[in-house]
Amino acid sequence: MDITKILICPKCKSNQFSKNNQIICNNCNSNFSYNEKNNQVVFEEVYKPNKVDEDIFTLKKNNHKRLLWRELNYLKIKKYTKTIPNNKLCLDIGCGPMTNKNLLNKFDTTLYMDGAKFNSVNIVCDFEKLIPIKNNSVDFILLSNVLEHIFSPQFFLNEIYRILKTNGKCLILVPYQIKLHQEPFDYFRYTRHALKRLLNNSNFSDFLIEEIGSTSNIIDNFLLIDMKTKRNINFFSKKIIFFLQWVIYKLFSIQRKFDSASINTLIPQGYSVEIKK
Ligand SMILES: [Zn+2]
Repeated sequence: MDITKILICPKCKSNQFSKNNQIICNNCNSNFSYNEKNNQVVFEEVYKPNKVDEDIFTLKKNNHKRLLWRELNYLKIKKYTKTIPNNKLCLDIGCGPMTNKNLLNKFDTTLYMDGAKFNSVNIVCDFEKLIPIKNNSVDFILLSNVLEHIFSPQFFLNEIYRILKTNGKCLILVPYQIKLHQEPFDYFRYTRHALKRLLNNSNFSDFLIEEIGSTSNIIDNFLLIDMKTKRNINFFSKKIIFFLQWVIYKLFSIQRKFDSASINTLIPQGYSVEIKK
């Protein structure tokens, strides 16, 4: 699609642009680099990615049994997007290296937005600021593991409300018990109560918050991370700790066989939020 049809200038909010090898705001004359081949406009590069290529997530056969956070996210997005007709405009905010491309390419138009300039991202911008998208213009927004990286979540969710069409939908996936990641851009862990208040304050009233991720996922995850964590103690203590953790992990694997799926609502791994404007 002609990307300028949906954009607004992040400086003056005008939606009148000229486009050649740049996108130029006809109102304030700001210009932004535009790559026609990738249909990519760069408003602002927030951080540099390790690599710029695609890194699309696929569900491997042996992962079906473990169903850790990423697999659960994948399945949730797959299930939810089935409820949305294909002829819709989808916006994947915080898409990263096109992680969810396999699930979103069913839509007639999917635009990818990120703070880093991965090759296939369409809109590179800082979404802690005004999102450079017109009011009431998007049918479906995916926010997969994004909210914890936004320092002003209320402003951000207000922006989501603004750009979503009436009856448009949004799916949020957000972790609660998970390691620090993408540091230093990792700020918050939300409870369902915080999510509810934030969404209500943004004028959303129709949404469903659900816990995802079993207790067994969390323990599995934490033990694996802790076993890999470097400890500043002597060699023998290190060996003993590693051995004990390894024994616990092995014993836990047996428990996991009997109970791999139950979710403890007091300590979920994270939440999914299905939202309708
Ligand atoms: Zn402008």
